Amino acid sequence: MSEACTHDCSTCGASCAHRSKPEDFLAAPNPGAHIKKVIAVMSGKGGVGKSTVTSLLAVAMRRAGFRVGILDADITGPSIPRMFGLYGRPAANEQGIEPVRSANDIAIISLNLFAENDTDPVVWRGPVIASAVTQFWTDVVWGDIDYLFVDLPPGTGDVPLTVFQSLPIDGIVVVTSPQDLVSMIVAKAVNMATLMNVPVLGVVENFNRFRCPDCGSIHNIFGESRVAETAGEWGLPLLGSLPIDPALAQAADSGLLEETAETVELAPAVTTLKKLMEA
Ligand code: ADP
Repeated sequence: MSEACTHDCSTCGASCAHRSKPEDFLAAPNPGAHIKKVIAVMSGKGGVGKSTVTSLLAVAMRRAGFRVGILDADITGPSIPRMFGLYGRPAANEQGIEPVRSANDIAIISLNLFAENDTDPVVWRGPVIASAVTQFWTDVVWGDIDYLFVDLPPGTGDVPLTVFQSLPIDGIVVVTSPQDLVSMIVAKAVNMATLMNVPVLGVVENFNRFRCPDCGSIHNIFGESRVAETAGEWGLPLLGSLPIDPALAQAADSGLLEETAETVELAPAVTTLKKLMEA
């Protein structure tokens, strides 16, 4: 340690014994938050159903009897409240901001809940967005939560980096569609996870097939899926495989996802998340 040391390692490149470890970047949770496991949900690009899968994972774990929350970190494309039919403003108490609660008591916080209209765009620069996400951790009175799902924006930019540095992430779930560049997406997620020292729990495949509602025949619209194979090559389990389901899209768009969510395909995810709690 030099004599000029300010004890602020973020402004100093010296490699000394006093250098703070990466975990020193962790933000302290709100005193009114007691969260056991934090699960980040990632995707390579937008539109693959990451927010839908985040919501379905939350619903599945809630149905399994756990206390669940969703932190919507997809600040510029926040869709979680709409899927649960939530439009009310979060209340505040002397400890901080209270999450809004879904019909089945899933605690949810999203920038959309603070907007005048949920169609208002968020026109903010990266650092401001990243600090809003951190505030969802430090300022929200989450209460007792077994699993907090963090819906990350697509890709590996500013916000995912802030989330991995500031929140104690216990595991990552990667969402991909069959036509996505699956091996590249999974490789990027695994490499980021390794850099951040967080385990990837597995992969959820979305839009994997279409069942004709008239004749019941199955169509692999995007060709034969290689998601399970690619996940296997990285030693990752397939945590679920969701078909293209117009009823699901309809339910999500009309705020009824929780009531109509078909969670059977996410059974391996539920098992994996339960094991994480026992570990
Ligand atoms: P992302 O978070 O990756 O941008 P979303 O979860 O917002 O994607 O989903 C994009 C759109 O696709 C939404 O309108 C959603 O309702 C729809 N969608 C997602 N998954 C499915 C599915 N399995 N079947 C039908 N529609 C889906």
